[in-house]
Formats: sequence, structure tokens, C-alpha cells
Amino acid sequence: KRRAHAREWTGPAQTKDEHPVELLANIQDRAGAERAEASQAAGIGLFRTELSFLNTPTEPSIDEQTDLYRSVFGRFPGAKIVVRTLDAGSDKPVAFASVPNEENPALGVRGLRTSGIDEGLLTRQIDAIVTASAEHDGPNWIMAPMVSTVSEARWFAGLIRERGLKAGIMIEVPAAAIMIDQFLEEVDFVSLGTNDLTQYVMAADRGNANLATYTDNWQPAVLTLINQVAQAGVRHGKPVGVCGEAAADPNLAAVLIGMGVTSLSMAPGAIAYVGSRLSEVTLQQCREAAEAVLHAPDPIKARQTAIAILQGKG
Ligand code: PEP
Ligand code: MG
Repeated sequence: KRRAHAREWTGPAQTKDEHPVELLANIQDRAGAERAEASQAAGIGLFRTELSFLNTPTEPSIDEQTDLYRSVFGRFPGAKIVVRTLDAGSDKPVAFASVPNEENPALGVRGLRTSGIDEGLLTRQIDAIVTASAEHDGPNWIMAPMVSTVSEARWFAGLIRERGLKAGIMIEVPAAAIMIDQFLEEVDFVSLGTNDLTQYVMAADRGNANLATYTDNWQPAVLTLINQVAQAGVRHGKPVGVCGEAAADPNLAAVLIGMGVTSLSMAPGAIAYVGSRLSEVTLQQCREAAEAVLHAPDPIKARQTAIAILQGKG
């Protein structure tokens, strides 16, 4: 039934009572941008630039990088595109941007931390993104992965704003979620990376199948942190997106909207599922479900309670 509904859903992206929701696509290259174009995505919420470079031994030139970004931006004229700077390291090893043989790469020099070793790698990438962005007639936002301190956020935002673009950070390290108010003062927007945030909050490797119950997207401890970030965004009047796997679960998507999240970014194939589910529930139901999951003792109960409320049986 859900599949039939999703097939028929053609938007607009909003709740049953017409509260608008921004549904965006996660992509990594031009082919992904083409899939996103064929979906109902309103734009790109996460462009994982590092995934284009997993098999690239040396740093591409600024011109080569510009061509790549241009090929993606060109598929979405007029639309918002959120580009993430290189998130190299750990589960996404990039030869030219990784520190080899770290004992604990998930806690190592990864994401924005790489620029502490080679700042030029980041600024050359930003220059390529800025050049491609100048030809794109929609808003281009740039965000950094794995930000853990306020000073990193301030430094990154300075680099981006002096080039005239909107600056954001991913919230995927618990420290950034805990201190969210101070981070929000430094940037224009934030995007929750629930995959890594869950891994670090639960101290459970995101890729380890034996730990799947810990990394369940409905873990109340993680949802509590997400709620704090979303509420802080509402207070500061700044956009808070979710671009991790949690956004692709239609019921959890409704919960996230209820918390105050302003956009959801996911694999293009999930957009119609999420869109059709949101069209069946009211914002009030989303808010009640969001409140309820915070009191659940475990992910199973959180999910059951939320679904009951979203189905009008709460
Ligand atoms: C995340 O961590 O949730 C995220 C969106 O980024 P990635 O999966 O690429 O680490
Ligand atoms: Mg991540």
C-alpha cells in the first residue's frame, strides 16, 4: 500500500494541513544528480564530494574539480544545492586527503580536521565550488563535515562568507550538538548527520552489523539530541536540516518535522515515500510524536509510540 501511495505521490511536499517541508536529495556525482532530477527533490541537500575521489590517487586540479561541481549544479537550475567539503577519512578513505595507518580512523583526522594538516586542500576545493557556483542561478550553500569546536565553525564560516556564499556545518559530533547555541551563532545553517551522530552518541561503529540495535535510527538518546538542535534552530531562526539515513524513514521523517527540522535530505529513491507519508499526517501529529519519542525507553517503543500517534491511534 505504501509503495502504491508513493508511486502516485507527485507533491507538493507538505503535511496534510499544508505545512511546507523541503525534501532534498543526497548525491555524490553527476549520475546521482540525474537520479535526483528524476525524483521530486526540490534540490540537493547533501553533495558528498569526497565519494567522487575514492579512487583518485592525487588531488584533482581546481579546473577538474570545477568541472565536476558544474556538471552536478547544471542539473538543478534555480534550485538550492548544499555542497559538503571533503569528508575524507574513516569509512571514506581518499588517498590524497588521508592520514595513513591511524589506529582509530573514525576518531582520527577526518572531515574538516584534514585541513589542520593541509589547509590548501580545503581552500582549493572551496575555490572550485565558488567558481562553479557563480554559474549556477540558484542558492549554493557550503558546509563542513565533522566540526567539533566553535572555533572550527567560526574559521570555516569566515572562509566561505568572504567568498560570498552561505556557510554551514554538519552536526554529527556530539560536542557540536551539545553546544548547538554557540555554533548557531557562527553559521547560517546546520545539517544533522545522523549516521555519524548515532555512531558517536551510542559508541557503536555505524558499519558493524552486529551493533545494528545500537545504531537504530530511533534510539531515544540520539532523538533527544536531534530535538535540542532542531529547537535551537527555531530559536535562532536558522535552518536545521537532516541529511543522514534517519530522514529516509517516512515515520521518523514526520517526527523530525515535528521537532522543528526545516529540511530532509535523502537518497532520491526515498523522496516519494517520505513525501507521501508526510501528506497523510498533520503538523500537530508530528509534534505529538516528536514529544512522545523523547520519553521512550528504547528504539522499539519510540517507533511504536510515534506510529500510533501518526496513525491517529495515540
Ligand atoms: C552522516 O554522517 O549522517 C552523513 C550524512 O554523512 P556521511 O553518511 O557521508 O558520513
Ligand atoms: Mg557523516
